[in-house]
Amino acid sequence: MIDSHCHLADAKFAADLPDVIARATKNGVDRMVTIADTLEEAEKCIAIAEKHPQIFATVGVHPHEAKSWKQGDDDRLRLLVQSSKKVKAVGEIGLDYHYDFSPRDTQREVFALQLKIAKEIKKPAVIHCREAVEDLWMIIEKEKPASLVLHCCTEKWEDVERFIAAGYLLSFTGITTYPNAADIRKTIKHCPLSQMMIETDAPYLAPVPHRGKRNEPAFVIEVAKAIADIKGVSVEEVDAATTANAVEFYRLPS
Ligand SMILES: [Zn+2]
Ligand SMILES: [Zn+2]
Repeated sequence: MIDSHCHLADAKFAADLPDVIARATKNGVDRMVTIADTLEEAEKCIAIAEKHPQIFATVGVHPHEAKSWKQGDDDRLRLLVQSSKKVKAVGEIGLDYHYDFSPRDTQREVFALQLKIAKEIKKPAVIHCREAVEDLWMIIEKEKPASLVLHCCTEKWEDVERFIAAGYLLSFTGITTYPNAADIRKTIKHCPLSQMMIETDAPYLAPVPHRGKRNEPAFVIEVAKAIADIKGVSVEEVDAATTANAVEFYRLPS
């Protein structure tokens, strides 16, 4: 099983990261992708990935941080991606109109720029989107990246059907296990197993029965169980499909 999206460089893991990784391994999570929100964090993600053969990294600037983007950051991003074979994608990048921590025009500009770089250096893009799916899709349609995942998908099926039609992936978190997740369950019902990944987005969004606690990669099994339940298939089938999808998407060594 693969946790396709977690934040192991987060300060909440600083005290016990080796234990967190050991618990993941013990629970059958044999690979993890640690995602960056800033270029500074990307350096930490790369350092963690370099230390552990089963951990891979991404480099990118989150929409919350778009306002801190400065001249030269495009070159810095490219250099960071090239600095290690363990870097497998550009992300997470996107738009977040729920929190609006960065002005929307800045978010759009920094997202489009990073999506362009991902295309140019032939890396998949890990996309974050909250209450911005129309603007996000406009930029995607313009740039037409070869490969992307809409992570922590909480959107209505009607809004993300076009991602599936275009051959892109959706990724689901512990939110899937929450009682008020009717929209997500409908999206999962429609999303083919061949186009989905599972993730924790740890340290946040711990799935039931760990809800409210710090989340960690070992808990990704709960997302697989919820999807198996919704689709009426076995957990093994969800594991096999989502693992194969993550290996192909991130081009992980098999
Ligand atoms: Zn995100
Ligand atoms: Zn994330």
